[in-house]
Amino acid sequence: MDFDTIAAISTPMGEGAIAIVRLSGDEAIAVADRLYSGPSGKRLRDVESHTIHYGHIKDPDTGQIVEEVMVSVLKGPKTFTREDIVEINCHGGIVTVNRVLQLALNGGARLADPGEFTKRAFLNGRIDLSQAEAVMDLIRAKTDRAMNVALGQMEGRLSKLIQKLRQEILETLAHVEVNIDYPEYDDVEEMTHNVLVEKATYVKQEIEKLLQTSQQGKILREGLSTVIVGRPNVGKSSLLNSLIHENKAIVTDIPGTTRDVIEEYVNVRGVPLRLVDTAGIRETEDIVERIGVEKSRQVLKKADLILLVMNFSEALSQEDEQLFEAVSGMDVIVIVNKTDLPQQIDLDRVKELAGNSPVVTTSLLEEQGIDQLEESISSLFFEGAVGPTDLTYVSNTRHIALLSQAKRSIEDALEAIDAGVPIDIVQIDLTRTWELLGEIIGDAVHESLIDQLFAQFCLGK
Ligand code: GDP
Ligand code: ZN
Repeated sequence: MDFDTIAAISTPMGEGAIAIVRLSGDEAIAVADRLYSGPSGKRLRDVESHTIHYGHIKDPDTGQIVEEVMVSVLKGPKTFTREDIVEINCHGGIVTVNRVLQLALNGGARLADPGEFTKRAFLNGRIDLSQAEAVMDLIRAKTDRAMNVALGQMEGRLSKLIQKLRQEILETLAHVEVNIDYPEYDDVEEMTHNVLVEKATYVKQEIEKLLQTSQQGKILREGLSTVIVGRPNVGKSSLLNSLIHENKAIVTDIPGTTRDVIEEYVNVRGVPLRLVDTAGIRETEDIVERIGVEKSRQVLKKADLILLVMNFSEALSQEDEQLFEAVSGMDVIVIVNKTDLPQQIDLDRVKELAGNSPVVTTSLLEEQGIDQLEESISSLFFEGAVGPTDLTYVSNTRHIALLSQAKRSIEDALEAIDAGVPIDIVQIDLTRTWELLGEIIGDAVHESLIDQLFAQFCLGK
């Protein structure tokens, strides 16, 4: 494809000291040559691909040196965008970097839209859509673990799996063709029926497996939404504070996220928690009393994790028991706080009410038991969960929606086979499944969807 040459500031993640002005397109090297001045008059257009060069960026109008730089020259197609790429590594502050970018724009490049580099990589066939989306998730990933998932996806793990499933469906469709072409052979029909059921069931199961990972993928990306509940004065605010102070709040520099949103995230031993804001917690303080067990259940249901706090130095009240009732069936950690005070609570009864949920005793005042609490949180999350080595999670909302649709249409196909519906009807459902899976990796996607997706990227990616 033919594109103009784009430029943007593209600072690598985790590196603040240097900033990169990145150019991509047919004119990338020519534009850079207009600004670059190398030792003994070296020109970038003469250098070998994938090499890096020391030099200066000069304003071509005034001849004034703007910045001392290292310039990487990467000739297509072995580049991220498959186009010629020049990366100008600057070490000055933001002002100098902006000036270098400005000079590149004056020199013939156009300012890139957010995500446009990745979009080109996709349009030029360098990456498929799920990989492109992984780049986006990578930019947004809030913890290391989430980053690994995004990386795995970028390496194409999900794509490979989807491609395999599509291949299975294609083979099944081929069998259907045989049946339609030679309906007079009974044994062909018999075989087709068996193959159909077998393959369609396999595809359905694999899609289900992928969908099961999606909840966890979402959690990794967005954080485990966590609500702290308990009677007034049991120590909910203290718990929130100690979780925030013990664990470095996850800080991201993603544009568009506001500070108060960022501060809600904490990383507890690799588990990202999204704690409801203080206002939210205050609202849940007397939640059962205020709106009743049934209603509060509905509110609490939206949470992924409940931290239910009890008071060690008071007898269990009816309100405590109601709280247990309200959170039954959810992921709950029971925290019996204020162990520094004389015991009044019946711990056996608490364990009974807790059922399978872990019970942790703490003194938040004396900073006791916080380790065990964190241990409970992390084992609750990672136990029985997808292991850290198996990183084919589905975490992208669009992928989840498509997988759900694909699951429905493969189920339709199976039902139709079962009901003895004419085989060419079954074929329609199978084709639909194949198409839906294709949309995940970017086959048959509308241009507008692509634009929408890439518009969500950060500038310079
Ligand atoms: P909330 O109303 O549930 O949010 O409870 P707070 O966190 O505001 O705590 C209520 C009171 O209990 C405050 O005075 C805290 O200092 C105190 N408190 C919290 N944790 C403990 C603890 O472990 N031991 C003791 N003795 N007091 C605590
Ligand atoms: Zn409080």
